[in-house]
Amino acid sequence: MDVKSPLIKVLMDHKTKILEIGKYNQIEFEKLINSLTEAERERFLILEKIKKDGLIDIKRIQNELGLSEENILNNIEYLKELGLLVFIDKHPRFFKEIIENSEKKGIFPSTKLIKEKNLCCGCGLCVAICPVNAIDYSGGSFVIDEDLCINCGLCFSACPRSFFPKELEKLEENHDPNIKFVNQFNYYRDLFTAQTTEPRIKSVAQDGGIVTTLLKTAFKQGYINGSFAVTIGDQPLKPLPILVESEEDLLKTAGTKYTNVPVLKIFHDARDHDKIAVVGTPCIMKALRKISFFPFNKPFYDNIVLKIGLFCMESFDYDKIVELLKNEFHVYPSDIKKMNIDRGKFIIYDQESNISNIPIKRIKKYGRFGCFFCDDLTAEYADISVGSIGSEPGWSTVIIRTKKGAEFFQQALDMNLITKKEIKEESKSFEDLSRIASSKLKKYVEQRRVKMLQQPPNERINNFEEVPYGLTDEMMKLEAQRCLQCGLPLCVTGCPVNIRIPEFIKLLREEKYVPALYKIKGSNLLPAICGRVCPQETQCENSCLLGSLGEPIAIGYLERYIADWERRNKLKECPECAPPTGIKVAVIGSGPAGLACAGELAMRGYDITIFEAFHAGGGVLTYGIPEFRLPKEIVKDEIETLKMLDVKVNYNAIIGKTLSFEDLKEMGFKAFFIGVGAGLPMFLNISGLNLNGVLSANEFLTRSNLMKAYRFPEYDTPIKIGKIITVVGGGNVALDSARTALRLGAERVIIVYRRSEEEMPARREEYHHAIEEGVEFQFLTNPVRFIGDEAGNVKQMEVVQMKLGEPDQSGRRSPITIENSEYLIDTDTVIVAVGTKANPVLTKSIPDLKLNKWGYIETNEEGQTNIEEIFAGGDIVTGSATVISAMGAGKKAAKSIDEYLRKKYTKNNGK
Ligand code: FAD
Repeated sequence: MDVKSPLIKVLMDHKTKILEIGKYNQIEFEKLINSLTEAERERFLILEKIKKDGLIDIKRIQNELGLSEENILNNIEYLKELGLLVFIDKHPRFFKEIIENSEKKGIFPSTKLIKEKNLCCGCGLCVAICPVNAIDYSGGSFVIDEDLCINCGLCFSACPRSFFPKELEKLEENHDPNIKFVNQFNYYRDLFTAQTTEPRIKSVAQDGGIVTTLLKTAFKQGYINGSFAVTIGDQPLKPLPILVESEEDLLKTAGTKYTNVPVLKIFHDARDHDKIAVVGTPCIMKALRKISFFPFNKPFYDNIVLKIGLFCMESFDYDKIVELLKNEFHVYPSDIKKMNIDRGKFIIYDQESNISNIPIKRIKKYGRFGCFFCDDLTAEYADISVGSIGSEPGWSTVIIRTKKGAEFFQQALDMNLITKKEIKEESKSFEDLSRIASSKLKKYVEQRRVKMLQQPPNERINNFEEVPYGLTDEMMKLEAQRCLQCGLPLCVTGCPVNIRIPEFIKLLREEKYVPALYKIKGSNLLPAICGRVCPQETQCENSCLLGSLGEPIAIGYLERYIADWERRNKLKECPECAPPTGIKVAVIGSGPAGLACAGELAMRGYDITIFEAFHAGGGVLTYGIPEFRLPKEIVKDEIETLKMLDVKVNYNAIIGKTLSFEDLKEMGFKAFFIGVGAGLPMFLNISGLNLNGVLSANEFLTRSNLMKAYRFPEYDTPIKIGKIITVVGGGNVALDSARTALRLGAERVIIVYRRSEEEMPARREEYHHAIEEGVEFQFLTNPVRFIGDEAGNVKQMEVVQMKLGEPDQSGRRSPITIENSEYLIDTDTVIVAVGTKANPVLTKSIPDLKLNKWGYIETNEEGQTNIEEIFAGGDIVTGSATVISAMGAGKKAAKSIDEYLRKKYTKNNGK
């Protein structure tokens, strides 16, 4: 049969390499290709049919192709995940972007696709299936040898974490009257508590010794001639996968089921055995279930005759177990005899049989991240599942699932190798098992990230109202339940102020709104602002485990939701403050750094006054970021929360001009936080800068936002822009200027940026909004001069085209001029948004204050300057950055101000 699917083509192209490596000999290679050919033929016939019909009609496909419904459904799922059904609007659920943008269609891009190793469940199947031995699994996860990899994507198609079709999810033996169903642990036939009768097994076994006894029975009966199991490795308690080949070898198997064993990595090596048993955790069973359909459409490894599943509460790799023992029990594996998980506790027995235990909740952080995707306690794809939950010590709970499993268990009973007692549905054991199994069920919800509704582009360019509307209650609930509640949440580390994100999301989904607010405000007093303008995509959301599949939790949306809920309900929740210390601290600047520092210090009981140069607070939040992105009412409101903490704000106070630093000292302030930002605009060093109509973004935005030029004549600040506006730059400031210009009535707005779209530092969401609104972008373009008319008004901008060279210090590829590529752009106004630098007004007035060569304040890690009572943070230390990083710096400085003041003043109460 001549099937030239991309997958088969790759394998055939690398036939010599595959045979040289020796994983397959000629005959085995042909078997592999034949299996795949058959599967790919069916798949592509189905695809052709769908293409012809323009829709999925299962009955019609069944009639015309003569395939079973199950086969068709599974293949459709496979085609969808491959990104081949996008034409009928069926998109991959996972890794969507990578797959849809992949150049090679009809093949999973490559192993590198599973970018996030934390997703790995540890089954080791990828090692077995790789035809060129390019994958190694000896540590806690896989490592890929890029030189060996042939990018066939076979590993990805088999990996149980890449996608798991819903059709494969439930196990049911058709029309079997003996089958019962319990949601928590799926289909089953019988439930027992059982114990081995074999004294030798009893002496070494954990619990009832059932797994070893079942394997013994199978060997005795000649039912199997090999079994995957676990043995102790070279390090204490380190389990390694082995292939047991005789009944005698069985007693050698031992180890602990709580460390993950990549049993399936030796799967391929056992291909010469025709009757194999596999013992493994739910992820191993799931991997086997998947590979029995994908990528071959039928079991390729058809030598597995018995699957014994192990219950699994939480899985650890060996290194994590060592960490757990060391940190929580203060022991090392060599001191341990046995470990167990029972009744919500992790239990260890030392060599003297002393027992110690701790709640599982406390050790979750040591578990494998990939386990958050598993909702299966009892290994539901096995023939028989075995575990300790629901049984007395020395006994095992046994779930008989398939007819094969039932017959086999009966043989062990008939041979008097096992004794059993039935577990009745109304029993305590059954209740325990169901309860614990349902506690696992809650984990992974397969659902798309919610999309926020927003003002339509053609409407919003005529007003300054906020663009996104926020989430509805329903959307919030859907989104909140997607959170995996990771034991060691990476999102918290990704947040510069370490908001305890999973905890606040958990409270949200339980609809405990006020506690959720407290939870956020404990780390961040400005959630309504951060929920709107933080670049979550590069911070908390960037670390979210779900992001590896393409769609991280919308943490920013949820943060905004709860803050808006507070406003809607006219509440003002603010955390408890410590008793007043009576010590005065001055905060200079009311941007995010100053506000965060003031809030944190107020909560610690200090008497805080903010000094702000402008007549309104908020810094860039008020004068820079436009109303349609961040309504000023919200900024005002968040500042009001600070006032509830007794923070005082002095507006129109320019420290270094209207008041000196010495004045502040005389006023009794004992410590100072400088958060004056980096608001001094930078200009291009080209001619025509002084023409009328060439503005800095700073001036343009301040006029529009702070002075409310967009509401002229209601506010007395006119602004003249003309018809064609060009904006120079590619950051948030450039985009804000461009979108403001559109709303002020410009007919055409062009952004000129010297690098490419990829290097643009602006938030992606804002970039997409700008495109929707009709802002034009000319990438790899740089102005060389501005040209004016006789009256001195700008009328054109001469630009030159650029190409990208090697990466510069910022890590971005540096732009290089293309000779003789100049051209002219007509323009009525030019807005220059190429960055800002430190404003020297305050820093010059404190001559001893140490600055770096660019004029930014130098501080130590804790935010303290070379003058012990002066601390600083935000843009004035780092240069232009983000709202949340400025807040993080403000909070950090507040902690060290507190320490400094405690040491120096608390004994005599600040006097
Ligand atoms: P600022 O916000 O600049 O506040 C400094 C304050 O100090 C000002 O109020 C100023 O008036 C006052 N001040 C200055 N000198 C004195 C003095 N001598 N005496 C008294 N007061 C003084 N970041 C994001 O995370 N997301 C975004 O979407 C985003 N968009 C942006 C859009 C624009 C247009 C701009 C300009 C910046 C944007 N940023 C964004 C960056 C972010 O706003 C800044 O990194 C952040 O505001 C810095 O905070 P700060 O407190 O250090 O300084």
